[in-house]
Amino acid sequence: MSRFIARRFASMDAYVPGEQPSDMEYIKLNTNEMPFPLPDFVANAVKNELDKLQLYPNPDGSRLINKLSEIYDVDPENVIIGNGSDELLAFTFLAFFEAGVVFPDITYGFYPVYAKLYDVPYREIPLADDLTINIKDYTGIGQNIVIANPNAPTGIVLGPEDIEILAKSNPDYIVAIDEAYIDFGGETAVQLTKKYDNLLVIHTYSKSRSMAGARLGFAIGSTPLIEDLNKMKYSFNPYNVNRLTQVLGEAALNNEAHFVQKRNEIIEVREYTHKKLEELGFTLTDSKANFLFCKHPDIGGFDLYSKLKDMGILIRQWNKPRIFDYVRITIGTREQMDALITAIGQIGLKDLRTKKEKKSYEKK
Ligand SMILES: *Cc1c(COP(=O)(O)O)cnc(C)c1O
Repeated sequence: MSRFIARRFASMDAYVPGEQPSDMEYIKLNTNEMPFPLPDFVANAVKNELDKLQLYPNPDGSRLINKLSEIYDVDPENVIIGNGSDELLAFTFLAFFEAGVVFPDITYGFYPVYAKLYDVPYREIPLADDLTINIKDYTGIGQNIVIANPNAPTGIVLGPEDIEILAKSNPDYIVAIDEAYIDFGGETAVQLTKKYDNLLVIHTYSKSRSMAGARLGFAIGSTPLIEDLNKMKYSFNPYNVNRLTQVLGEAALNNEAHFVQKRNEIIEVREYTHKKLEELGFTLTDSKANFLFCKHPDIGGFDLYSKLKDMGILIRQWNKPRIFDYVRITIGTREQMDALITAIGQIGLKDLRTKKEKKSYEKK
């Protein structure tokens, strides 16, 4: 750290993304990317656009927004695009959460980071013992709310009737629903944004649409909410979504059948892997995302992560109270998941928890 950094950031911890090591080829099951490359009908779209890179992109992204508004059956003025949904989440914290925000104690790790970055007071509401969100904890709470649905890293989903209770019972506060994983088995709350002007739904192309590297997200909400988010965007970076990503995003919407097929493939492999892990003695949450969240009585989360990494398979683990024992495993191809199951079989799970790990867990 230099001596020049603003005092309020000196003690702030930045978000730590999942590792993207380049020392060798891993089976990458740690950052919830899709295992499939972009189909040609999407990739080919950038070829013409490459000739126009000397020009700024369209700052309002209207072509892409028009297409998104058709697919999600809303008006274009109810949609904004961002440089990944992370940017739209940042704009949401900046624009709306001055008075504070609440979110679950176990959820997307970026929420507390944005809160600190923008000096937003926040309170974490504990998940129930079974790691579900108790809707009653948020009903009429009189606070801004941000919830990932399905939640990360548990994968547990709330229904639109639950989201409606939140929006309806907190009419003077923002209810932001981060639907990064909704396409893998949940039901979107997008249509409720027509009824509740305080409801904002945030989506990403990074997960179900196989475009994490392109950085594209979008948010849907009432016209005034989207105007406010645009105010943040035009005060920060009007050209936030580059030319190539705008055309890729548009082309990806040209073949919804392909999207549905790949999404369904992941759901199928998720259910297959769920069953296999159960047979190996794992306890799993009922994940409706493109990952599984699980623990095994014979091995702690960190040990399982380390052993699999040595075997060339990357998964995610958190050194965090309550979920220390768990690992999160992204759903890859059927072949990748079979390699995972084989590797876990080779570890031979029987009281593998190290003494050191037990001790540090008991301290928490
Ligand atoms: C991956 C993820 C995001 C971020 O997605 P980007 O669009 O890649 O920025 C947001 N929220 C949750 C819960 C995620 O898991």
